[in-house]
Amino acid sequence: MSDADLAIAIRENQFVVHYQPKIDTRTLEFVSVEALVRWNHPVLGVVFPDRFIPLAEQSDHIHGITDIVLRAALDQSAEWRDLGLNLRMSINISGASLEDPDLPEQIHELSKSFNVPADKVVLEVTETWQSQDTAATTLILNGLVEKGFGLALDDVGTGHSNFAKLDGMPYSEMKLDKTHIHSATVDEETRQFISMCVELGHEMGMYVVAEGIERQDQWEMMSAMGCDEGQGYFIARPMPGDQIQGWLKRWNTYLGLAENHQRENDPKVNLDEMTGTFHRLNSIFPTKLDI
Ligand code: C2E
Ligand code: CA
Ligand code: CA
Repeated sequence: MSDADLAIAIRENQFVVHYQPKIDTRTLEFVSVEALVRWNHPVLGVVFPDRFIPLAEQSDHIHGITDIVLRAALDQSAEWRDLGLNLRMSINISGASLEDPDLPEQIHELSKSFNVPADKVVLEVTETWQSQDTAATTLILNGLVEKGFGLALDDVGTGHSNFAKLDGMPYSEMKLDKTHIHSATVDEETRQFISMCVELGHEMGMYVVAEGIERQDQWEMMSAMGCDEGQGYFIARPMPGDQIQGWLKRWNTYLGLAENHQRENDPKVNLDEMTGTFHRLNSIFPTKLDI
């Protein structure tokens, strides 16, 4: 995989964007998706972003990829909205793009051209870049907020968490990184750290999302800690855009069954199976997984 391969991939648009659902922990409603890019490499097959985004960030190629993902995600958003699916769309923005003063205007123009309201778009920025916090970056982040976009602080807990630096920053959302979610159920220190992050996030007026929830105990812990939204394999894997509606149908069917059962205490429905919840959903109604 080289720089030249990336140039070709951008020119020929060899990228595909998958979408991973996020669920409101209180209502269990499907409220939002995160757009995650994959590279359909002609020889290597599907290449995941951890393998090519860092390479792209070393050159201008990252801007080409950001543009492709933004267009695909906004187009998908508009299509879902026309079908009555009013989801927030979260899009990862590389820190390298936060050096471009035209970024707020560019994204504003794009969302206008796809007819997607800015308040339905959340831009995810990793904590590592935030900690560099130059005056220019702050200006760009404020510019995005002025245009009406949501701003998420991504991968919280992986960098040198310097919460003092967050004071006055315009983030609307905090995303707790999956590494911490995974250890929080077994490690008391991590649990306390995560709990503190949730509290701080709320104090700063952000809603808090737990990423990488793989098991029911993790879901239960993050809900109990007051996380507002959850995302992870336990709920759904990232999937192609055209599978989201089918997934939602199964999700709603499942929720309806669980609700009916609670209401009527229908003995035909096995409660253990029902409360095997999201995992169970995925095994009852298998979808095509992307890994
Ligand atoms: P991220 O922003 O932290 O995204 C979450 C990653 O965790 C995704 O990996 C997702 O598939 C994975 N994930 C979700 N739920 C679970 C779970 O329950 N367990 C585990 N083990 N993993 C889970 P993915 O798609 O491979 O993306 C990796 C990273 O690449 C992303 O991390 C993000 O930093 C970057 N990335 C992805 N798409 C884009 C993009 O369009 N632009 C930019 N600049 N970066 C992107
Ligand atoms: Ca992200
Ligand atoms: Ca992460």
